Amino acid sequence: ASPMNEELTLEFRLIPYGESEQLLIVRDITHLKQLEQIRKDFVANVSHELRTPLTVLQGYLEVMEADELPEQGVWRKAHPVMLEQTRRMDSLVQQLLTLSRIESSSRGNFDTVVDVPAMLVVLQLEAETLNREKQHRIQFDIEPGLKVKGIAEELRSAFSNLVTNAIKYTPPGSDIQVSWKRQHQKAVFAVNDNGDGIAPQHVKRLTERFYRVDSARSRANGGSGLGLAIVKHVLSRHNSRLIIFSAPKEGSSFSFSLPAELVIPVKKKSQLAKA
Ligand code: ADP
Repeated sequence: ASPMNEELTLEFRLIPYGESEQLLIVRDITHLKQLEQIRKDFVANVSHELRTPLTVLQGYLEVMEADELPEQGVWRKAHPVMLEQTRRMDSLVQQLLTLSRIESSSRGNFDTVVDVPAMLVVLQLEAETLNREKQHRIQFDIEPGLKVKGIAEELRSAFSNLVTNAIKYTPPGSDIQVSWKRQHQKAVFAVNDNGDGIAPQHVKRLTERFYRVDSARSRANGGSGLGLAIVKHVLSRHNSRLIIFSAPKEGSSFSFSLPAELVIPVKKKSQLAKA
């Protein structure tokens, strides 16, 4: 059952039917073909992403090898580049491991109560370290005691990806607001920034694996293009989805909600007496 505007891939098979007849079996394998294509693209992308930094590293190492007595200058220039490329590979491999861990862990225990405010306090400290160079004004507005059920490690990765993206992809000195607030029965996480924003044609593709608005800029930021794909995956496992509002020159907003853990209010003695 493929949409009308998509090409169908059909598989035909003839099997013996009775003594002299044959039965033609037609199977719609469009979906299988698409999955196969996604898998091939994924492998090609990973290989490409790993080869680029390796080529740089190899290039420098060869220059060094050819130079019998390399000048101090060559080493000094090469060192930070090699370090950056190594970190890039490391971050890509880590993101890939995160993605594969999420995909391979089947259901997991989604009934565990996660102390999100405690988690966000740690994240705030990490954000401050990351923010040293960019000097953004980052505000955290965390509602104490607002917990949800889910898988702590996965949720932490979703919060962290959205906050680090706001730091990485906005010009120095931007305003970033991170909030965790109760809205009726929901707990809402939101990261708003007043950065450069993203054009609509990119917004709808942001959560695709390896999709980057500006590859060069994203790579320079150590980005692998997997961050938002991980967020999307984590949220779908928690029956939630990422909501993105963004407009060029106006900034971006990334948010999602989860059912808030019920806090049973402790009744005072006077109320108990009335009840
Ligand atoms: P990466 O892992 O490379 O950081 P993501 O999947 O997290 O990739 O993000 C995809 C792209 O979305 C980034 O390359 C960047 O161009 C864009 N992006 C994400 N967050 C923001 C933001 N707050 N402001 C502007 N662009 C953003």
